[in-house]
Amino acid sequence: MHATPLPEDYRSGFIALIGRPNVGKSTLVNQLVGEKVAITSPVAQTTRNRLRAILTTDVAQMVLVDTPGIHKPHHLLGERLVKSARSAIGEVDLVVLLLEGCERPGRGDAFIVNLLQQQSLPVLVALNKWDKLAEEHRSEAEEAYAALLQETNWPVHRCSALSGDGCAELTAAMAAQLPLGPQLYPPEMVSDQPERVLLGELIREQVLLHTREEVPHSVAVTIDRVEELPAKGKGKGAGRTAVLATVLVERKSQKGILIGKGGAMLKTIGQGARLQMQVLIDGPVYLELFVKVVPDWRSKPARLAELGYTGDQ
Ligand code: GDP
Ligand code: MG
Repeated sequence: MHATPLPEDYRSGFIALIGRPNVGKSTLVNQLVGEKVAITSPVAQTTRNRLRAILTTDVAQMVLVDTPGIHKPHHLLGERLVKSARSAIGEVDLVVLLLEGCERPGRGDAFIVNLLQQQSLPVLVALNKWDKLAEEHRSEAEEAYAALLQETNWPVHRCSALSGDGCAELTAAMAAQLPLGPQLYPPEMVSDQPERVLLGELIREQVLLHTREEVPHSVAVTIDRVEELPAKGKGKGAGRTAVLATVLVERKSQKGILIGKGGAMLKTIGQGARLQMQVLIDGPVYLELFVKVVPDWRSKPARLAELGYTGDQ
């Protein structure tokens, strides 16, 4: 197969998605690349690792850096998330600032606008969740955001990362802001994270989804083994991809919640994760989940590093 030569004005570069937790950064990444590479959840601070998703079009290759939301650090893990988001700003060609179109701008937004004004990077603003805003409130919201952005000359786009409305226009605007350059990744690649990391994230997503407040912030997942089992083998997993994974929690009580009555919760989490994994892997999956208590893992630098949260990746 011959690769078609790229046009002379082909563009490429790195784009950081910046915004408060829960504004829809991960949802936008998935919408833009058309595949689920980032986990999303109604609970804030879902994204821990910096993820690069790759969107290749006829005119440009955009490497999207999904960052943890910028917020005030509460403990070591929080500090690392913020450091990682700040360092992302320093390494990219363009910033897409996501703001929640359906809510009034707050002090957190002003903080981020301020931070970005101190850089010389081009910035595009995406007013996300526009779908949630009733027609009669739209002009009011526009005015509030115009006031927030009055000191800047950043172009503003309205979009819905969930439905995809406005996303094509946003993509075109992003591509146009990048420098001329070749493709940096193979065009079929959509994420730079190894499959193991994505698999672990799918489990974490289900934990966040089903346990909400009780457990979320103290959960990490390790993928202990991924193995393709022969079709003719014995046992439940025959012919499937077997995934063995451990969910780490900080307290015994959290382990209890995760396992649930008669193992019901762990079963729900496992089933949800398995279905998502089958889409990712494109084949049947057999998933075995364990839960382990590691007291205070979030505050232990060695443990964080082991799990990949180095804060400067
Ligand atoms: P992040 O913390 O910025 O990465 O936010 P997520 O992508 O995890 O999204 C947080 C929540 O907002 C999830 O429940 C999403 O489904 C929801 N969400 C994201 N974008 C939109 C949107 O455009 N419209 C609506 N209605 N919900 C959205
Ligand atoms: Mg996220």
